[in-house]
Amino acid sequence: MQVDLQTLYCLTIGTLTVAGAMMLWERQAYRLRARELGFWAAGAFVFAVACVVAMNRTRLPGISGPAGASLLFVSGYLLWLHGVRLLDGRAGSQWYAVTLGALALTWAVAGVHFPQAFWNHIASLPVAAIVGLTALTLLRCRAVRGLRSRAIAVAIPAGHGLFYLCRAFVTPVLASAYGAEVLTAVAKFTMYEGVLYSVAMPMTFIALIREEAQERLRAAARTDYLTGLSNRHGFFEQGSRILSRHGGDAPVSLLAFDLDHFKAINDRHGHAAGDAVIRLFANVARDLIRDVEDPEPVVARLGGEEFAALLPGRGLAEAKRLGEEVALRFAVASEQGEGPGIRATVSIGLAEGRPGRGDLGQLLDRADRALYRAKALGRNRVEVAGPAAA
Ligand code: GH3
Ligand code: MG
Ligand code: MG
Repeated sequence: MQVDLQTLYCLTIGTLTVAGAMMLWERQAYRLRARELGFWAAGAFVFAVACVVAMNRTRLPGISGPAGASLLFVSGYLLWLHGVRLLDGRAGSQWYAVTLGALALTWAVAGVHFPQAFWNHIASLPVAAIVGLTALTLLRCRAVRGLRSRAIAVAIPAGHGLFYLCRAFVTPVLASAYGAEVLTAVAKFTMYEGVLYSVAMPMTFIALIREEAQERLRAAARTDYLTGLSNRHGFFEQGSRILSRHGGDAPVSLLAFDLDHFKAINDRHGHAAGDAVIRLFANVARDLIRDVEDPEPVVARLGGEEFAALLPGRGLAEAKRLGEEVALRFAVASEQGEGPGIRATVSIGLAEGRPGRGDLGQLLDRADRALYRAKALGRNRVEVAGPAAA
């Protein structure tokens, strides 16, 4: 197959323009990452212009062609790096301007004398450095940690940077050993690799943003809007995972909470005040129960004025003490005017289980039955479920 350099340039200009347009289009769907996508789109358009200048560089006066193209390429890489830095909310850097200034100066001072060496080898060094930094920034980026596309997002610029490093150091050696045809072959391969990079990197940027948005949606589906605690879905998802992972003979306790006479609170003070009482209880329970660390407990609002806490590694005595503390702290906090200042109490059922014996649903069922007893015995108290049937 014979492909000439000009055709490859035309192809790259096309893929970059389409990639830039696609990233602009995606900005409308992913508003939270509109700035990142904007910089990446701008980078793609700058690359496309750089290709136009590069393919016509010999027609431009002096070294303005290669130097201009080189500066434009580096600007494109800096725009992509900046978009990646924005993922973690990092600001721009004065190094962008320093890099471009130093490159322009080097072209003006030394590039005039050795335009070929500059174009073929030396101009690859800033590219390798910036793309390497892009890979490193993605590797350290908190926003993309845990995303499936992160590995590929790091590998692509790392590979691209490595290729440009070889272009700077290996090509001169090959050219002196095998002659100038090597340079033509390397130029073609560089453009071929450029076509692939101009497709792969924007696709990866879009994949990262989509996957991050998907994760955010998943987290929202597990979270209760009013209190910020896990909801029933999150409770069962996290709880089941804890039960299956938490092996051995260590106990697991479950506290089921139900606010007392809550309908009356709503009737007397209105729904908004009822909401504030729910939020107050959530804060009290979260603060007290999340103090218990390692293994981490799950506190959730199962629905309405009903909550649950799963305490891995905690036996009945410890869980009962914690339940009583929550009940007391909630009663005191509600009376002392924290939240809406409405007196409110909570009834609690407690059940203990062993991981591997019965599921979370059964444990919650037993805690619920103990909770009914707490209601029947006068409310504002903790009742313990009997041992699970063998
Ligand atoms: P008990 O002491 O026996 O638990 O009595 P209760 O009144 O708390 O129990 P009941 O289940 O009859 O009432 C629960 C009330 O909680 C009924 C419902 O209107 C109210 N509720 C459910 N979800 C919300 C909510 O998100 N906000 C508010 N303000 N009220 C809610
Ligand atoms: Mg209820
Ligand atoms: Mg209730």
